Amino acid sequence: MKKICFALFVLTSLQLHATEGMWIPTLLGAIEDDMQAFGLQLSADDIYSINHSSLKDAIVHFNGGCTAEVISKDGLLLTNHHCGYSQIQYHSSLENNYLKDGFWAKTRADEVVNPSLYATFSVRLDDVTKQLLDGVTEGMTASERAAIIAKNEEKVVAATLEGTTNLDAFVRAYNYGNSYFVIVTKDYTDVRLVGAPPSAIGKFGGDTDNWVWPRHTGDFSLFRIYAGADNEPADYAPENKPLQPIMHLPISMDGIEKGDFTMVFGFPGRTEQYLTTGAVEYVVETANPIRIHMRETSLEIIDAAMRSSEKIHIQYAAKQSSISNAYKKWIGQNNGLKELNAIQKKKDLEKAYMELAKVKGKQNYLNALESLTKLNEEAKDLKLSRDVFIEYFFYGPEIFGFARGFDGIIKNYAKLESEGKLEEQIESLKSSTASHFKDLHAPTEKAIFENLTALYFDYMPQAYFPQEMTDFKTKNKGEMGRMLKSLYGKSVFANEEALNKLLSNPSEKAFAKLKKDPAYALYQSLFNGYLRDVRPEYSRLNNEIDEQMRVYVQGLAELFPNKEYSPDANSTLRLTYGKAEGSAPVDGMAYKFCTTADGILQKFYSGNPDFDLPADMISLLEEENYGRYAHTDGELRVCFTGSNHTTGGNSGSPAINGKGHLIGLNFDRSWESTMSDIYYDAGRCRNIMVDVKYVLWVIDVYAGAGHIVDEMTLVWGDEAAETETENQGELTPIEAVSQ
Ligand code: ASP
Repeated sequence: MKKICFALFVLTSLQLHATEGMWIPTLLGAIEDDMQAFGLQLSADDIYSINHSSLKDAIVHFNGGCTAEVISKDGLLLTNHHCGYSQIQYHSSLENNYLKDGFWAKTRADEVVNPSLYATFSVRLDDVTKQLLDGVTEGMTASERAAIIAKNEEKVVAATLEGTTNLDAFVRAYNYGNSYFVIVTKDYTDVRLVGAPPSAIGKFGGDTDNWVWPRHTGDFSLFRIYAGADNEPADYAPENKPLQPIMHLPISMDGIEKGDFTMVFGFPGRTEQYLTTGAVEYVVETANPIRIHMRETSLEIIDAAMRSSEKIHIQYAAKQSSISNAYKKWIGQNNGLKELNAIQKKKDLEKAYMELAKVKGKQNYLNALESLTKLNEEAKDLKLSRDVFIEYFFYGPEIFGFARGFDGIIKNYAKLESEGKLEEQIESLKSSTASHFKDLHAPTEKAIFENLTALYFDYMPQAYFPQEMTDFKTKNKGEMGRMLKSLYGKSVFANEEALNKLLSNPSEKAFAKLKKDPAYALYQSLFNGYLRDVRPEYSRLNNEIDEQMRVYVQGLAELFPNKEYSPDANSTLRLTYGKAEGSAPVDGMAYKFCTTADGILQKFYSGNPDFDLPADMISLLEEENYGRYAHTDGELRVCFTGSNHTTGGNSGSPAINGKGHLIGLNFDRSWESTMSDIYYDAGRCRNIMVDVKYVLWVIDVYAGAGHIVDEMTLVWGDEAAETETENQGELTPIEAVSQ
């Protein structure tokens, strides 16, 4: 019973420290009073309900990573520029450079289709802790427990989905398995690009300003969800119609003042607040320095290549961003954890925990922490081999991931043929081949291979070094020149023409031969080496660690009932709230809570790719042509900070005021907050949001795309906003989904 109540316990114990915490939307009742004391004018039920439309019906998980919100009766979606970046990049060419010039669909017919982009609504979340733990008893091993939970999970998902259509369901553990929720979702797969500002606005400040305040980035882009004639999910078809959503967010035209209530509603990805000393030491002393070094190495190569040509700039823009974002965050994270003495604080906490557990005779809590210390020590090399593998395979040379895409046809040609799926597979490979080579600059790829392979050899722990990689090195006499030649000189995966020939004249024999292709063989070595030597043991240890963490966090909550605990982020819908406020993280310096358009001109630096501006933007700002988007003081506000507890995945989340109206779009955290995933400090952690009135100004005044603003619901003062779609006032048949 104690375990089941953990989430609720956590909510009540936290009422005095409201700004820390990512709250489960079904449990907001317990903190409703505190939120209202902060300035919320709505009830918990207005935010999350399954009986009538609520704010949650306007929030989507964007492509499984970011957040977006519905802002019109016609399914218009607002998210970050950096969340739509790979789609914007995908559609960009030297002739139509949407990255550089922006893109605005003049009519619905101009909205651009995005293969494989999807938007997921969370239809409902239900606590299923009791069902999941049915049959679990004290004293079970981690794997016995996991096996029972997995079976129960299957049953819960099947029961949840019975009699439904177009819905999906999955179970997520919270607090390391102290509670479980089943989450019912609905995926829309026809999501089209509607608008994006030039990168000079959407990415203004570039890598220099990323994770930094003060900020002047118009980090937004617009998409639209399309549905079939019945308003239900449908794959792309020209006749699909804009989604008529259950709910869309009205937009506040009142602006925001310091101290105003703010909440951020979205899909925070991952936090690790409860890591114990050994695990934090691993991050600070081992993982971060190595990952930073590997990424710095590829960024040096990519940045130089991007500066040298516009074509390469387009080719590598999205890849560069995905490498540099975490790279810079990890640097800030290490600084912050050291500055705040996080490791020593963890040690102190654990010492106090042990003492209290002893006094109270809680042997299970003592055992859990002792086991964690041992397990974290034991897991070090395994974790490192996994981290190095991920950095090399997924963020290093692209040839391996590309060859991996051909695995199916190489191994199962006959099966695909007999099942009539061969043609579809070949078409999809032709298209992935075209996009791979469209965005590949061979010298850059080779330079990345050369430099990152050397780091892979240096950093991969000997105990987990795949024998095949050693053989590859030995065969090439350890010489990089030979390795490069034997891979890129001989592999069909480095030769677009040869590969297209093969795809145009496919045969089982020809594809079977590729098993010996050097890039394919090396991908297999790397990947299989990981699957064979690392993953099973890593999973086993990880399960054991999670099991001990479950007891440890339960112990924390029981032993220190007056401290702050909230479930770590796990990519599910959460709400966090706080105030619009600045911070003073550094001695002698205070950050204001908002920035204005004046700062854009102050930062403007012609010829510097991070701070250059289009000429028409400069003249509009110089004229102070702010139209109806000016704040009451006549300024055009650009970004603001708040004390909302956010993380990656909250990118694109709506910032909402006390009335439930959109005031901004979350996109980042300040430099001094980058450690907050591991160690949150309410005094200095601030999330960064772009002011929605600046977003509207860019769309309307700068881009002349006022027709897009016209479909939004703008509200002034206490005006009531009509936000439900007429024929959709009632929810889709989720009532049918019962536990
Ligand atoms: N900038 C972040 C991201 O890319 C958002 C955050 O972590 O606060 O997801």
